[in-house]
Amino acid sequence: MCIFCKILNKEIPSYKIYEDEDFYAMLDISQATPGHTLVLPKKHITNIFDLPEDLASKLFVVVKKVSDMLKEKLGFNDLNILNNSGEVAGQTVMHLHIHIIPRYSKDEINLSPVEHEYNKELLEKVYAKITN
Ligand code: 5GP
Ligand code: ZN
Repeated sequence: MCIFCKILNKEIPSYKIYEDEDFYAMLDISQATPGHTLVLPKKHITNIFDLPEDLASKLFVVVKKVSDMLKEKLGFNDLNILNNSGEVAGQTVMHLHIHIIPRYSKDEINLSPVEHEYNKELLEKVYAKITN
């Protein structure tokens, strides 16, 4: 059983901040910033590619609810929403989860994509692949 399934099974404790029929939200054990939260489906689903569409739409509603709740309680104005799907993308727990990361003016995390130079050829090649 994966570590998040064990948490859902109450074999491992967690700081629960939201729960409904399909989802569970808890503080990340390693707080990137104060309030860093994970929202996960109760069903073991590995990543975004295994997520059925009906749960996908419900999931974003929960992410929105939890974001608003955290904002109200913690008083920040900004946040990042992040999902790592797959090892190369940095997923370490193979049970789908969305990171909600409050941002504070003097926090020290950097989640911005690395900037690359404008490359028309590359853009057009990938665009053709996607649209053909
Ligand atoms: P990933 O790298 O897969 O996107 O994120 C996994 C996250 O799960 C990490 O931020 C890590 O701190 C968190 N995590 C790992 N084990 C536990 C745990 O036992 N409890 C909680 N609450 N978070 C965990
Ligand atoms: Zn699991």
